[in-house]
Amino acid sequence: MDDPYALAITFDDGYLNVYEYAFPILEELNAKATVFIITSAIGKSNDWDANLGWIHFDHLGEEEIAILSNSGWEIGSHGNTHKSLKTLSQDELDWEIGESKNILENRLNINISWFASPFGKVDRKILNTTSKYNYKGCCGFYPFRLLTSRNLAFEIPRLSVYMIDTVKTVENKISGDYKKLRNEVLKQNVISFFANATIAVNAVR
Ligand SMILES: [Zn+2]
Repeated sequence: MDDPYALAITFDDGYLNVYEYAFPILEELNAKATVFIITSAIGKSNDWDANLGWIHFDHLGEEEIAILSNSGWEIGSHGNTHKSLKTLSQDELDWEIGESKNILENRLNINISWFASPFGKVDRKILNTTSKYNYKGCCGFYPFRLLTSRNLAFEIPRLSVYMIDTVKTVENKISGDYKKLRNEVLKQNVISFFANATIAVNAVR
């Protein structure tokens, strides 16, 4: 991003409520966003998100994804199964990262250029695989090591917006002020720590 004031809004998981609620509001503002789709969840009711417990959300179907794409939204891949990629073999990474791109491009007849790693988990192997499949970039979680780094060309760090966030804290995330940004990164890391604990608990159940 060359423009220091550029801001990208992204939604992971491809929930139908993005189409129902966020899309009309952003249309009014003439703002476009990116939605990252899990290929196995297209058009289905959510039955996999451990963090959301008993709450069921529907996912976008091909029809809604096409409307978003035709309206200027970017459609990206969020993998085939939403498994955390960090412990996967290279074959499994190829399938989650490379094959999910093929599936989306074939089903939706659009180019898929961006990948968002499930749970924001990014490491060298994941980045190399996204690069191998000609993605333009891989979105992840905002790690502390990037606070002082300018090398953000391929790995795109993101800050989550949570239900507990306010207009003020969202302003802090995008302020460009190091101290405010650091606090928001810290908050994201703490919340992620507990989310990881949930993943671990569900894995051993
Ligand atoms: Zn996700």
